[in-house]
Amino acid sequence: MARAYNFAPGPAALPESVLKQAQADMLEWGTAGASIVEMSHRGPEFMEVAARAEADLRTLLGVPADYAVLFLPGGATTAQALLPLNFAAPGATVDYVVTGHWGKTALRQLTPAVTANIAASGEPDGFRNIPARDTWRLTPGAAYVHITANETIHGVEYRPAWGEPAPETGDVPLFADFSSSIASEPIDITRYGVIYAGAQKNLGPVGISVVIVRRELLERTGQPRADIFNYGSQLAHDSMLNTPPTWNWYMAGLVFRWMLDEGGTPEFDRRSDEKAALLYGAIDGSGGFYRNDVDPAVRSRMNIPFFLAEDAHNAVFLDGAREAGLIGLKGHRVLGGMRASIYNAMPVDGVRALVAYMQDFQKRHG
Ligand SMILES: *Cc1c(COP(=O)(O)O)cnc(C)c1O
Repeated sequence: MARAYNFAPGPAALPESVLKQAQADMLEWGTAGASIVEMSHRGPEFMEVAARAEADLRTLLGVPADYAVLFLPGGATTAQALLPLNFAAPGATVDYVVTGHWGKTALRQLTPAVTANIAASGEPDGFRNIPARDTWRLTPGAAYVHITANETIHGVEYRPAWGEPAPETGDVPLFADFSSSIASEPIDITRYGVIYAGAQKNLGPVGISVVIVRRELLERTGQPRADIFNYGSQLAHDSMLNTPPTWNWYMAGLVFRWMLDEGGTPEFDRRSDEKAALLYGAIDGSGGFYRNDVDPAVRSRMNIPFFLAEDAHNAVFLDGAREAGLIGLKGHRVLGGMRASIYNAMPVDGVRALVAYMQDFQKRHG
């Protein structure tokens, strides 16, 4: 059976070499007599896997020493709930810039213990742009400013054409949800207080998330919370306060190594430019047969929603795509239409195949 080009938004495609490695490791880890998922997380085998994953992620993203890296069970939504508990004292104000579905989800994870200020929102414009930085109403002395680096459903991303990809927030630390764009380009980590990402878009299988925190922020008291939700305790125990999701951690480690072997974030930046240019070029060059409504200054390179001029064509488009070996293209129910998610594991050839299919489909139905 041939593997298809998988444009799913998450859980998303993993590199084939990573899947093969995992398959080979599945029955026995070296000569340990058991697989890595059947062993203690405190044993030497897994401790080495965990340490190497962290070292490789630090190399990949250029994480400075004064930042801690946590590997925690749960998803990005879990992190969204834990950020205020760890970094905002009761009564504090937290600033949120909402540029799509996931920014709204982040807001919903707040409790009445903090005051939420929506500093800016793209919702009045249907999330087709990011409000200009000089229109944001930030709160002096806020606990943090939260942004979504890339909106996976609305296809909106902070890009250089918009302005500073890490917007200036003065003394207030910037927290960013990088779930769907982490490791797609080099970034300056020091511009952020916290970066977090669920793994299932660009880093590995679902079930684990990465949280990168400026260490001094861990000295904040935050809110009353159980020890298991305390990032400081997690760090003190190397993210092993309880049994961690070892298989996911191991798989993410394979993905980090693959990314480094492929050339690291500069290479994925180059490929992302190439893939996005191919796909947006096909959409914009279709004379209105296909359409993407996002302001070109903030169009995502990772998730590209697009619509056919006639909704009646949607089901036929998806069926034909599947037959052409292109899967995962159905748009999110919030927007409808199509969406192509083209994370690091999607080769340029996959996007070429999609573009060829789109052009052929237009010839037959245009
Ligand atoms: C997928 C996604 C989430 C939610 O992730 P879960 O792991 O399902 O909680 C949050 N933010 C962004 C940007 C995402 O792409």
